[in-house]
Amino acid sequence: MKHYDVIIIGGGAAGFFAAINCAEQNPKLNICILEKNKEGLQKVKISGGGRCNVTHAEFMPQELVNNYPRGAKELLGPFHQFMTGDTIEWFDKRGVALKIEEDGRMFPVTDSSQTIIDCFLNEAKKLQIDVLYSQNVQDIEILEAQEVFQIKTKDTNFQCEKLLVATGSSMKFWKLISQLGHTIVQPVPSLFTFNINDKRIKNIPGVVAQDVEVNILKTDLSSQGPLLITHWGMSAPAILKLSAFGAVELAKMDYKFQIEINFIKQDFESCLDHLKAIKHDFGKKLVYKLPQFELPKRLWQQLVLASGMTQDTRWADVNKQELDSLTEQLTQAVFDVNGKSTFKDEFVTAGGIDLKEVNFKTFESKRVPNLYFAGEVLNIDAITGGFNFQNAWTGAFIAAKTIAKKSPL
Ligand SMILES: Cc1cc2nc3c(=O)[nH]c(=O)nc-3n(C[C@H](O)[C@H](O)[C@H](O)COP(=O)(O)OP(=O)(O)OC[C@H]3O[C@@H](n4cnc5c(N)ncnc54)[C@H](O)[C@@H]3O)c2cc1C
Repeated sequence: MKHYDVIIIGGGAAGFFAAINCAEQNPKLNICILEKNKEGLQKVKISGGGRCNVTHAEFMPQELVNNYPRGAKELLGPFHQFMTGDTIEWFDKRGVALKIEEDGRMFPVTDSSQTIIDCFLNEAKKLQIDVLYSQNVQDIEILEAQEVFQIKTKDTNFQCEKLLVATGSSMKFWKLISQLGHTIVQPVPSLFTFNINDKRIKNIPGVVAQDVEVNILKTDLSSQGPLLITHWGMSAPAILKLSAFGAVELAKMDYKFQIEINFIKQDFESCLDHLKAIKHDFGKKLVYKLPQFELPKRLWQQLVLASGMTQDTRWADVNKQELDSLTEQLTQAVFDVNGKSTFKDEFVTAGGIDLKEVNFKTFESKRVPNLYFAGEVLNIDAITGGFNFQNAWTGAFIAAKTIAKKSPL
């Protein structure tokens, strides 16, 4: 039997961040991380395409929460305690400088996730945190008389007074937590791309429309932003946001639905007026070769063909039906979505521990005293851009601070 003051289950982003902060704030605590794999921080390693998108340059809590389809309300208070600026300062103090990219994503200046991993491993060592690998936690028991948790892995029993669960998205572990009296919101995937088999986009993978509006028909789901045509369908923020905010609804539809895209973010009438003016002014030119609305040429050409025109149609010869049809393709093009694909840069799971059962001032369970949660194990997830890690850092920091304060110094 091994005894610790604090045990953290899960050696991922939230687990390491919590352990380090707890040890710093209360150096007397005997802290251990139990990690089931032979190495920890595996998701950090592959995150952001190997660069680790650590956080996002959004510094207003009220704005930051808008990026969380699940958890927005609950994270508002915590973000007032620890958010982006604190994350930047935290890493900076430990020699890890972060940089901001044009779209607001923040990465280590080294562009390598290994920098974050090295930082965590060095800090954990310096603070004498026991990081025990190949320790797959299989059972947790609350020994009420002794006021301790008993944790079992395959070959070792552990006991601790304070327990922090940071196991990420793990069905097995959610089951275990439900046995402790917590409700688990059924997990479904979030952050995925849409599979679309459509002539209009078949031969133009790699094309990006800079700012489109996408609506999912028969739902209230809509989003705006860049859209990328891929080999399988569509991706980029306009799509990924819908996949996150619609994670539950789209799962119920079995990922079969229709989207309507306004490629130019103009209404039908103003688009039609513009096209009529072009027809009037450039009658001799070929429609196919004169893209409008700053649309990528190849996308424009596909939409022209889809409107019933050929590569040789001149503006002067475009009839009313073709003009209406092109306007429709530009402002309300409908596509059938049939299935989803994994977004390779970042994916998360919606679902997890019911947020009603957690005190967000401390990240402590409302059901079991001295039990804490941080990271993706909670029913919190975000759109892509560094927000998922920010959730891990914030929850881990607050839980660690609470544990450090509650334990004797
Ligand atoms: C490919 C990919 C790229 C990503 N890129 C980004 C990004 O750039 N920016 C961003 O903000 N988010 C990104 N994310 C999301 C981000 O990685 C997660 O939100 C984050 O890792 C959650 O941290 P966590 O500590 O809660 O869980 P995890 O990092 O998943 O850590 C959980 C740990 O618990 C361990 N564990 C599970 N069960 C047990 C058990 N029974 N016993 C012991 N240990 C156990 C696991 O092995 C794991 O090490 C990405 C995700 C993926 C999959």
